[in-house]
Amino acid sequence: MQASKITAVPRTKQPAPMIDKDLDAEIIEPTEKGENLFKLAEKQLQRAFDVIAIDASLQTILKQPKNEIIIHFPVKLSTGKVQLFKGYRVQHNNILGPFKGGIRFHQNVYLDECKALATWMTWKCALQNLPFGGGKGGVKFDPSLHTKEDLEHITRRFTHALGNNIGPEWDVPAPDMGTNAQIMDWMMDTYSNIVSMSDKQSVKRVVTGKSTVCGGSPGREEATGRGIVHCITQWADEARFNLAGATLAVQGFGNVGSNTAKILSRMGASLIAVGDHTGYWRHPEGFNPYKLAEYVRQKGTLQGYPGGESMTRDEFFATKCDIFIPAALELQICEHEAKLMNCKVVVEGANGPTNVEGETILANRGIHIIPDILANSGGVVVSYFEWLQNKRSETWDIEDVRTRLETRMNNTYQMASEKARHLQIDMRTACYVIALERLQEVYARRGIWP
Ligand code: GLU
Repeated sequence: MQASKITAVPRTKQPAPMIDKDLDAEIIEPTEKGENLFKLAEKQLQRAFDVIAIDASLQTILKQPKNEIIIHFPVKLSTGKVQLFKGYRVQHNNILGPFKGGIRFHQNVYLDECKALATWMTWKCALQNLPFGGGKGGVKFDPSLHTKEDLEHITRRFTHALGNNIGPEWDVPAPDMGTNAQIMDWMMDTYSNIVSMSDKQSVKRVVTGKSTVCGGSPGREEATGRGIVHCITQWADEARFNLAGATLAVQGFGNVGSNTAKILSRMGASLIAVGDHTGYWRHPEGFNPYKLAEYVRQKGTLQGYPGGESMTRDEFFATKCDIFIPAALELQICEHEAKLMNCKVVVEGANGPTNVEGETILANRGIHIIPDILANSGGVVVSYFEWLQNKRSETWDIEDVRTRLETRMNNTYQMASEKARHLQIDMRTACYVIALERLQEVYARRGIWP
């Protein structure tokens, strides 16, 4: 009789299935705007190929990543449930050095997004003349729905599953959307526990963006924002524009958006509009970016911030301001938004925030764009400094890091600006040209084996 009772248990009371339906989702997903991010990366690359003569076989090589790794790994969550997670690591190119680029934790991570982001890292590192190639990865889940303990387990299990697919001279992850220094500390610790005892100390540089006590570089956290500000300063010098009294709109108030707004406010700029996925707010006299950042640190989002007046997404994009900084998700400035925008310069803190149609409209309307691979490259530049410090067992002081970052950002900006003037092309294509010429030179000398 008991046996028949067991078989009579309704299906809904069975343990949850191991594989979430999300994991089976089509891996080549378009975004909510219906555009696939890798297609955008391809179109941008093609524009550069149209401007300079790049060998046909090199074009073929650079159009696709070298390796695309997809991993399913189980984690026992604090609820007691075992959940299977989907993780990615795409390694685009390593002719200049180890693959380099962030790991993102986000519910919409998909393969073609990682492919695009890894490709952009190759151009970003080559543009900045760093001895790194391009990589990017992520885990498809919403970190805000998990406890700290779960985040640690997910991070450690993912790192373990990646195994030798990462390494200090092979592929060096860093923070990206949804990850931070704590996640990097766990990744480093896990990796150092899967190598031999005698290698434990020498593999610290397997990830960058760690906390300073665990070997991170001073100034790494603020580096992307600082790099953006150096670009804006260079642009302002060229445009004979005074940053004191400038108005600013920032989309996304995480690490990049908040640090940029804080530094610009110290230079006299005023943050008059701000927003994230929870909504948009305006404040004609200017928000206090320090208070906003503290609010986001405590609450996780801008939702409910007591100050400013709420507005629609369209109103946010239509804000009359001098500097507009997309520092949230990709594909935010498309045809619709570009027509609304009313600013002098768009500075791409996010990766891939503008699609080709949006970019054309902005250009026709005389709005300048400082492209992502230049604007937000301060992060990976200081990641390189961290990697170097770890390799040499050194700790640089913050002023040293800041000076080196400023020099590199300013020099690269000038080089890109000169290239754009010389070839009569936009800044993005100019940055691509510099990166591609560097890569082409190395491929030409090394050849293709065998
Ligand atoms: N995730 C950052 C980026 O997109 C930083 C990468 C790094 O430091 O390796 O540039």
